Amino acid sequence: MPEIKRPQTIAAAHGVARDAAFGAVAPPVYLTSSYAFDGFDLPRAHEYSRTSNPTRDQLARTLALLEGGAGAVVVASGMAAIDLVLSRLSPGERVVAPHDCYSGTRRLLELRAAKGQFDLSFVDEADTEALGEALAARTKLVLIETPSNPLLRVVDIAAIAERAKHAGAEVAVDNTFLSPALQNPIALGADFVIHSTTKYLNGHSDVVGGAVIAAKAEDVAELSAWANATGVTGSPFDAYQTLRGLRTLFPRVERQQQNAAAIASFLSCQSQVAAVHYPGLATDPGHEIATRQQRGFGAMLSFEITGSMETVAGFLESLNVFTLAESLGGVESLIAHPATMTHSGMSPQARQDAGINDTLIRLSVGLEAEADLIEDLAQALYHATI
Ligand SMILES: *Cc1c(COP(=O)(O)O)cnc(C)c1O
Repeated sequence: MPEIKRPQTIAAAHGVARDAAFGAVAPPVYLTSSYAFDGFDLPRAHEYSRTSNPTRDQLARTLALLEGGAGAVVVASGMAAIDLVLSRLSPGERVVAPHDCYSGTRRLLELRAAKGQFDLSFVDEADTEALGEALAARTKLVLIETPSNPLLRVVDIAAIAERAKHAGAEVAVDNTFLSPALQNPIALGADFVIHSTTKYLNGHSDVVGGAVIAAKAEDVAELSAWANATGVTGSPFDAYQTLRGLRTLFPRVERQQQNAAAIASFLSCQSQVAAVHYPGLATDPGHEIATRQQRGFGAMLSFEITGSMETVAGFLESLNVFTLAESLGGVESLIAHPATMTHSGMSPQARQDAGINDTLIRLSVGLEAEADLIEDLAQALYHATI
């Protein structure tokens, strides 16, 4: 078999038709907890599915290739993936995280730091002075999330990674918002890439899962050992479904981001919209860095509606095509109100510091017809603001 190199081919066909028993085209799902020994003291490739499973390992290999890493560990959720990276820290070592990171990430970091498992600083990583100060304080790990949730702020991964390396720190990038179709943090200097595979990688809103891809083989081994020790590895069936979703990653993301770009330009021209946050807009503060470090602008965007909470409620209740729900990255378009939904766990002060106001609305743009999406937004804006 010739070596496959291009990412579209890896996503569509890596591991296809390798089944030694029957030549199955789709990699089979191995729903087993345990594996028979070949004989006394003769273990086979797998012994127990918490430790390793052929279906999960296939997904891990495909993800590692897509991100350009030495290997991957597939776990039960995006949060488990972040926690797995945090397993490497010892008391007294510092984690630097973005001040506007995913709220579940913030909660996990705060809970673990409160137990003394590491020191913690939330920093605006675009602020070079603040980042420099934090790096000087025994920092072991810099966590990056770009574009950020829900404001789509973009930071320069290569620049931050270089400074972190200089300070002796490792870098982990949560690449959930773009997926490997649009951004590869390892090529930009990251040591770890984190995914909530729940989102674009699976892409069908029917699995919760996560993965960590490591640049170095010794880090893959260490993370695998931790995942086995703590038991956070993902289920074989979830891995099978995620691999199935992953086959169409590239065409999905490509089409979804076309819809998102059309929606962003539509919203930018509406009098009822006070601001649109989308790195694809030439006027967006993140446009220049995004153009350099991403292969596309993605299918997430957010905007501020002119008016009050009541305007927001009227708008959200008038929509027919968009579904009011948390999560993102699926084939169907979802809409969320961060202040009462995804970011309600943050204090009002923390929300304000992160720039998340009460009229901010987040969109995860799906695969529906562009005109249906825009017409839906147009009629809901009209009804909410007359
Ligand atoms: C959803 C999400 C997570 C958490 O993933 P789960 O699969 O829900 O545990 C982490 N980071 C980002 C950016 C996310 O969007």
